[in-house]
Amino acid sequence: MTDIAERPAPVSTTARPVPDIRTRLPGPRARDHVAFDHTYTSPSLPRAYPLVPVHGDGATVEDIDGNLFLDFTAGIAVSSTGYGHPRVTAAIERQARSMLHFSASDFYLPVYAQLAAELDRIAPIDGPTKSFITNSGTEAVEAAIKLARFHSRRQYLVSFLGAFHGRSYGSVSLTASKSRYHAGFGPLLPGVIHVPFGSAGLDELEDRVFKKLVPADEIAAIFVEPIQGEGGYIVPDPDFLPRLRALCDRHGILLVADEIQSGAGRTGKMWAVEHWGVEPDILLTAKGIASGLPLGAMVARANLMTWQPGHHGSTFGGNPVACAAALETIRLLEDGLIENAAERGDQAIAALREATAKHGSLVREVRGKGLMIGVQFDSDATAEAVQWACFQSGLLVLEAGEAVVRMSPPLIVSADDVDTAVRLFDEAIGAVRRDPSKALDEARKWGDVDEVYVAG
Ligand code: PLP
Repeated sequence: MTDIAERPAPVSTTARPVPDIRTRLPGPRARDHVAFDHTYTSPSLPRAYPLVPVHGDGATVEDIDGNLFLDFTAGIAVSSTGYGHPRVTAAIERQARSMLHFSASDFYLPVYAQLAAELDRIAPIDGPTKSFITNSGTEAVEAAIKLARFHSRRQYLVSFLGAFHGRSYGSVSLTASKSRYHAGFGPLLPGVIHVPFGSAGLDELEDRVFKKLVPADEIAAIFVEPIQGEGGYIVPDPDFLPRLRALCDRHGILLVADEIQSGAGRTGKMWAVEHWGVEPDILLTAKGIASGLPLGAMVARANLMTWQPGHHGSTFGGNPVACAAALETIRLLEDGLIENAAERGDQAIAALREATAKHGSLVREVRGKGLMIGVQFDSDATAEAVQWACFQSGLLVLEAGEAVVRMSPPLIVSADDVDTAVRLFDEAIGAVRRDPSKALDEARKWGDVDEVYVAG
């Protein structure tokens, strides 16, 4: 068993270069901990590789053996302000000393309404909005499903192949990135229709679905990730989102933008839909919006909020400490982190394209916006091997979709961090090219590589 007290005290990261790997990976304590973990935790957890993080500082993560990693995952696009940002930790501490919890569903918690007002100010929606605050992304999706059906009195929902909207029953019914998410769990929520992501999917909706399967006036809402996340960091064709907005307007369908991964400044704008000038009717946020405290929100046009007391609520949703973290995160995003995401993103995408060009057909594409970057490889095996080789050299990255490695660092990364990450990533691809089976064989010892199940 790994006793927390037995762990080494966090090493001061300031005196050491990053990354700084001092043991074989995984190190001895990490190996022990992985065995301990497997004894007691749910085998459904889709671990990517045997990293055992215990401390974070900025974009640096220290593992249980004292190794320092440069983190280009941000805990799946969550730690937007980096680890331990002094302004975020101070806001959390202030709120924790004042009040740790009171149910915002049943009483009037000031910080809950303050956050809702801030979400109204920053939402990419003209006109007034109201928010329902949750503990997670999937709960924000559930809230939107319920509100869309309730308000429209229509039952059908549309989402896109490759989409990831979460793992609870409603959201997993919308998810269509891997069949394992549905396997053995049926029947799922009825009335969900999937079409391809991109303009071709809209043709299919109008030519096939609306004409032959379900009339458009029975569709309550279309859920879309403006840039698909878990599906492989896929940026749609330029016409897709404007056409989708027009289609929804024509048929009175609500457009729900799931910005749980793409939002909160990650793409170099507060919300990814802003790249296309498209306004959703309902916006969903979570992940990076509270710097890592569990918080999500469904932000809807005020006139859609026709439900009444008791129709929806949550004990923990909008916990005051998480709300305080979100308020400070929003301030930091507006104080320069969104700009930094845009600049560092341009730097990273240009440098990755240049560095990976020499690897020929192994690297198919470098794509993304801001610090939501995907590198498309020729096969899942290559992506898995590159992810492993990066881990070995001290760079944390994460697979997504089919044969893609994603980079989603904290938005505080510096130009030097980006240079280091691109160099290590390039070296990892070089190592995989020289000996394709070495990294893969090692990675295989630690996980299932037939399909990628790192989720979120
Ligand atoms: N929607 C998107 C786009 C996501 O990336 C995720 C991530 O997991 C979710 C929904 C579900 O969020 P959560 O894991 O917080 O339930």
